[in-house]
Order: sequence, then C-alpha cells, then structure tokens
Amino acid sequence: MSEQLVDRFGRVHRDLRISLTDKCNLRCTYCMPAEGVPWIAKQNLLTTDEIERVGRVFASLGIDEARLTGGEPLLRPDAVDVVRRLAALPTSSGQTDGGPTGRGRMRVSMTTNALGLAGVMDDLVDAGLERLNISIDTLDPERFHALTRRDRLDDVLAGIRAAQRSGLRPLKLNTVAMRGVNDDEFVDLVRFAREHDAQLRFIEQMPLDAGHVWSRAEMVDGQEILDRLSEEFTLEPVGERGSDPAEVFRVDGGSTTVGVIASVSAPFCGSCDRVRITADGQLRNCLFARDESDLLGLLRSGGSDADLAAMIRRSIGDKREGHGIDGPNFLQPDRPMSAIGG
Ligand code: SAM
Ligand code: SF4
Repeated sequence: MSEQLVDRFGRVHRDLRISLTDKCNLRCTYCMPAEGVPWIAKQNLLTTDEIERVGRVFASLGIDEARLTGGEPLLRPDAVDVVRRLAALPTSSGQTDGGPTGRGRMRVSMTTNALGLAGVMDDLVDAGLERLNISIDTLDPERFHALTRRDRLDDVLAGIRAAQRSGLRPLKLNTVAMRGVNDDEFVDLVRFAREHDAQLRFIEQMPLDAGHVWSRAEMVDGQEILDRLSEEFTLEPVGERGSDPAEVFRVDGGSTTVGVIASVSAPFCGSCDRVRITADGQLRNCLFARDESDLLGLLRSGGSDADLAAMIRRSIGDKREGHGIDGPNFLQPDRPMSAIGG
C-alpha cells in the first residue's frame, strides 16, 4: 500500500495548492489592500526547481492534484514550465491516468483572474494543464473597476473566451457573493456561465481581507444565494459531494450546474483533503492556519526528501478539526488571501 497523508481525523490528503506568487494585477477589495503590500522578497520565492522537488515529494505521499494559485499565478514568467514539470510527476495514490505505464500522473489545474490568459492558453494546454477556475464577480465594467481597483473587465472576458475555446472542461467560474456589490447579478452570472459552457460556483466571502473589515452579519450566505437563484431557475441537487467544497445543483434540467461554496455557514472541514504551500515555501495545513512550517528553509539548508516528507507529515498531523470561523475564538490569519494562496 503506498503512503498517504492521513491526519488525526482520518482525512486523506490528495490536493496540493501551490501559490506561485503573492503579486497580482488586480486589487480585489476582499483579498488585497489598495497599496502598501509587503511583498515577498524575490530571493524567498520558491524557484521552478524547488516547486518541482516539493511537488515530487508530495506526489510520493499520495497527493495527485496540484492547483496553481496566488496572487495571480500567470504573473510568474515560468508558469507554463511549472505546469509542464508538475504534470510529468508520477503519483503514488493509485489513481491511474489510463496510460500504458498503469501509473498516475499529477493532475494540474489553475485558479486565475484570466488577465493575460488568452496569450498563453494554448501553451498551458500543451504543457498538460487539465482544468481552469476563473474568478469573475461582476459583468458590469464600472463595478469591476470599483471592486478590483483596475479597469480590466474586457481582458477577463477575453480570457474566459480563450478558456472556452481551449476545450478544457469542466471550466469553472468563481464568484464571491457580496451584499450591495453583486447580489443583484447572481442570475445574470449563471446565464453568462451557461453561454460560455462553464459551471459557476458562488463562494461565501471569508475573513481574509487585508483591511479586516469582513462582517459575518453582512455576508451573503449560501442559502440566500440559492433562494435568489430559485426565483429564476429550477435547481436540482447533483449526486455525491465527496471532497468537493461546493454543493452542486443542475440548472433547469440541462447540462449547466451551479454550486455554492458555503465555507462559513456550512463548513466542509470534515472532508477537507487540501494542503497549501505559499509562494515563499511555507506549508499551511489550512487556509486559516495560524502556524506555518518552513519548507523553504529546510530545502535551502540541504534537507533531504525524507526530511521534507517528515515535515509535511508533521504538519498534516497537527491539522485542526476545523477552521472555526463561526466560533467565538476565531482569529483571522495574519496574511491576506493573496499571500496565502486561495
Ligand atoms: N488571482 C487568482 C484569482 O483571483 O482567481 C487566484 C488567487 S485568488 C486568492 C483565489 C480565489 O480566492 C479567487 O476565486 C478569489 O475570488 C477567492 N477569494 C479571495 N479572497 C477571498 C475571500 N475573502 N473570501 C472568499 N474568496 C476569496
Ligand atoms: Fe488578485 Fe485573485 Fe486576490 Fe483578486 S482575488 S486580488 S485577482 S489574487
């Protein structure tokens, strides 16, 4: 039996989120401050070789999906190379790719704001990228400008069209639900997704903003999103959820689905299979973890693969049962979402 990363609560870890950079070409209010971001020093960013090495160690521990994120992952000049190297890694999880070796390969996906995606779409597919999640919170150019502090909606739309043409499916769109910002656009966003052969996922806003102004009372929760959508569409629950954070519904009996990721009001920590590395090589066993393990330091002080694996196992061993956002003792992480990697 090959090794697995299992924590104290029996959760088997399969999914590695790798933040390629903390930099971004947008400044979404729920994620980054307008200015004054303390950037990670360039020499502290994991190099392409280090990402590949860490990916290989994780693959030997049962991880079989690597999702590239950030910041904006496409800002890394080596993003295509990273995809190519990770997609070539043999995995030990027992899931095969149906190929002649009978072994599996790392499945590589990316979460992006789609700025600049159109120009590298073909290269990403050629490198082995399997899936894309694209974030879009509004279809209104002025709102987009206010929300992201950049006037770039047209570039995002061009990226979504390129993703649609690429044939990578399922193509997912992510929308953070925000009261007074886009809560009157939910129906339009579902229609937009349907027109682009994409599956929309609404996300409850989490307390990961740089300004620490998130308010539970103001949050649009999953039930409210579903109530709004049900006024317009017939929603029918879709099958087993597994480790999918989204509760998924078929829209009007067709092939389009819509999902709700209710991280705050209905946490899915019990089936969490994720572990994260920040762009500066810090291992986080939860988005909301207060502690990090210094993989970068270990890598650069000559640590062996066995040492790296031991640090990873220890971190998973320490993972808490849940993030406790709704509990009285919840403390927001010090880093904003852009620096952790969403
Ligand atoms: N820049 C890329 C993007 O926007 O898709 C990848 C990184 S971003 C941090 C990853 C995802 O986290 C995005 O879908 C974004 O909407 C989501 N996100 C960021 N801050 C959030 C928050 N406070 N609550 C919920 N989702 C958030
Ligand atoms: Fe950038 Fe993505 Fe954060 Fe928006 S959500 S500021 S696009 S990292």
